[in-house]
Amino acid sequence: MSDPLAAVRTQIDRAVETLDIDPTVRDRLHDPDRIVQVTLPLTRDDGTVDHLWGYRVRHDDALGPGKGGLRFHPAVSADECAGLAGWMTLKCALLDLPFGGAKGGVAVDPGDLSVGERERLVRRYTAAVASVVGPDRDVPAPDLGTDAREMAWVADTYGELVGRASPGVVTGKPPALGGVEGRASAPGRSVALVTRAACRSLGRPLTTQTVAVQGYGSVGANAARLLSDWGATVVAVSDAGGAIHDPTGLDTDEIPSYRERPDAVTDCEAAEADEVAHLSNADLLGLDVDVLIPAAVGGVLDSETAEAVRADLLVEGANGPTTPAGDERLRERGLRVVPDVLANAGGVTVSYYEWLQGRNRRAWDRGRVLDRLDADVTEAWESVVETAETYDCSWRTAATGVALRRLAEAHQARGRWP
Ligand code: GLU
Repeated sequence: MSDPLAAVRTQIDRAVETLDIDPTVRDRLHDPDRIVQVTLPLTRDDGTVDHLWGYRVRHDDALGPGKGGLRFHPAVSADECAGLAGWMTLKCALLDLPFGGAKGGVAVDPGDLSVGERERLVRRYTAAVASVVGPDRDVPAPDLGTDAREMAWVADTYGELVGRASPGVVTGKPPALGGVEGRASAPGRSVALVTRAACRSLGRPLTTQTVAVQGYGSVGANAARLLSDWGATVVAVSDAGGAIHDPTGLDTDEIPSYRERPDAVTDCEAAEADEVAHLSNADLLGLDVDVLIPAAVGGVLDSETAEAVRADLLVEGANGPTTPAGDERLRERGLRVVPDVLANAGGVTVSYYEWLQGRNRRAWDRGRVLDRLDADVTEAWESVVETAETYDCSWRTAATGVALRRLAEAHQARGRWP
């Protein structure tokens, strides 16, 4: 069972202890600043009315306004948003972005919504949380089950409510509204960047590496395609319905991502080839590959599935794919894990560029976005590796520790009032 809030607390405790950080920050960050729960009446296309629960949680704002995704998923709850918001606090601090952590969502199956229902739900949600979001308060972005289209509706609804154009209220918008080309592929890009850097640090050229990717959404597909471009052999990918495996390598461009054709991995044309085997998602996690990238949902690596992993390098594309018990098991077995707060941080990093551009009313070209992203992710990676060496700890504890140091300093400088 995935419990992000318990997981983030465990990670914070371990880092505070290992890096000898002021425990006041641990106690402060165990719980979020604020949880808003709203009931959202949704008029269905057939005229009936459903009542759905929505949430917006701000975990911490010592470094700046809250920042984090808006997800549409049946498992969304106050606790889940609180844990995910906690990871956003750590992620923004690790990347040295002037944002705190937040997360929100609606407990709904997005596949069960028509376009009209989606739009009504997004607008109602925005109205319900309008008093707690805003360009300087808390800035949502796409997450599981939402993308640029939903962000456009949030920006429009919020702008109408406050009576002025407010592009900075969300990031991940369509380029026509001030969104940044490359925002959607950015989390996958950072996953690929840190995979390459981690392989290099272990003395393994990417061209010698086999890779399995769980989940073929925005994160998984973009990471798989970039790694293939850079010479790695992607041998297995999956969607919620199952996995495909070809030990000689898959053509990642031929397999449609979730965005291109939802849940099509196992029945696309590339999957029909004779040499392609069909596996379960659990089988994919246990494949004999060099690198495993869980890029689907949280909690897939518990103590049991972690035991079966044969890759010796894991790169977390999803938020929270490893439970604390799974993490313990991976550590005991000596496997290396690049944690989510570093690996998929490209998303929020490009969100920051978009937010800056919205404030300055000035666009960056794609080259500048990618160069800056590569530099920011590399800098964070280097600080994690250096800290892990100094304290002889895992990359996860080092990443959490680097973030907590910055947060502790900010909380200390701010003091307490009233
Ligand atoms: N939902 C993404 C994440 O989990 C991005 C958040 C953002 O850009 O604010 O990192």
